[in-house]
Amino acid sequence: MSHQPPKNKSKHIILTSHLNGNQKHGFPIHWGAANPIDRGPIIASLRGSGYRNVIGSHAGSYGIYRALAVASGVLDPDHKADLTNTSPIVNLGPHPSWSDPDKIVSLDPYGAMTGDLFAQFHSDNYDIFPTIAITKAHINIPEIKDEIAKGRLEIDGKILKEDGNLVVTKAAIDPVWYLPGIAKRLGIDQWDLRRALFQQTGGMFPELVTRPDLNVFLPPIGGTTVYVIGDETTIADPHYPLAVRVHDECNGSDVFGSDICTCRPYLVHGIEVCIQTAQVGGAGIIVYCRKEGRALGEVTKFLVYNARKRQLGGDRADAYFVRTECVAGVQDMRFQELMSDVLHWLGVTKIDRLVSMSNMKYDAITHSGIEVVERVPIPPDLIPADAAVEIAAKKAAGYYSDTAEPPLTQVKGRSY
Ligand SMILES: [Zn+2]
Repeated sequence: MSHQPPKNKSKHIILTSHLNGNQKHGFPIHWGAANPIDRGPIIASLRGSGYRNVIGSHAGSYGIYRALAVASGVLDPDHKADLTNTSPIVNLGPHPSWSDPDKIVSLDPYGAMTGDLFAQFHSDNYDIFPTIAITKAHINIPEIKDEIAKGRLEIDGKILKEDGNLVVTKAAIDPVWYLPGIAKRLGIDQWDLRRALFQQTGGMFPELVTRPDLNVFLPPIGGTTVYVIGDETTIADPHYPLAVRVHDECNGSDVFGSDICTCRPYLVHGIEVCIQTAQVGGAGIIVYCRKEGRALGEVTKFLVYNARKRQLGGDRADAYFVRTECVAGVQDMRFQELMSDVLHWLGVTKIDRLVSMSNMKYDAITHSGIEVVERVPIPPDLIPADAAVEIAAKKAAGYYSDTAEPPLTQVKGRSY
């Protein structure tokens, strides 16, 4: 089967790197404005370049698949989404943080409400697409069923059902970067940031360096998924208990059960703590960030696994971070400084139980103004034998711990 490009489609290319003549985009974005109408909608429509007020396009890295679909002739480039019945199943927010230009810089707090808020802006010339979608689900996790069988988790019939299913509200969030705010958060010059983004994507987005009138960028990266367990209306009220785990993607462990790290066991423990907190009248939040392999990607991660296991003396905790740095140039590229945005989007001001040992996550959360009452380390019996290398190295590097550790040189992993 061969796809033919749709007939009657213009082959004319309009460069977006410069405004044409006296053209000015119609709806400037006033990030952090007191109300959403003054803030203005995010318009990344490819329908009419004159109406666009951002750099980049929707759906993060999946925009490339959209291009394949258009190029193959299976998607009409002028398709306009029918958003009937797609609005949030529950409202999360608004919160005062939504109009604070410093609290949220890497997502659009109004991203789930675009249909209602910006109805007056709708036009056939462009479209306004949600960057956040909120729905509900029942999730089924074998370890949770094991905990129920052991009597460590109790069925309540509402949050945790008789069949072991867990009822959650979940939100998918695409990144929306306010570049001046990102630069300020990272303590760098905005034009240094824009130039590096332009150069490191191979010149993919010329507007980064040619369009100072455009301050908002939809980066081609993975997004974030939020799972809320329990009563979402309690999240922003510090009088109710709140548990949070911020988890960075690890496909090898999270999905496939690899034993080289603690990711899935710690994620599941986070879900358990969230269930227990929700069952006493509060809520639990799992924030799942698509930052595979410390945002270095899975190819780099697997290269590092080989380098770790083949080095002189085998996989050793004392050389854990060095091997990553050899391959990637850095130990970590996750930039947790941006992670707290999602918590401020949810209106979080206090976390009673933070299920994380990461000092980088803890520092990012507390520096952003959120109080953390207790840090919950991974229970030792949940650490796979081969993951002892990772956990010992992280603790030595500053991760939170409430137990004494053996010397790093004594902690070794399997060869393969
Ligand atoms: Zn992992």
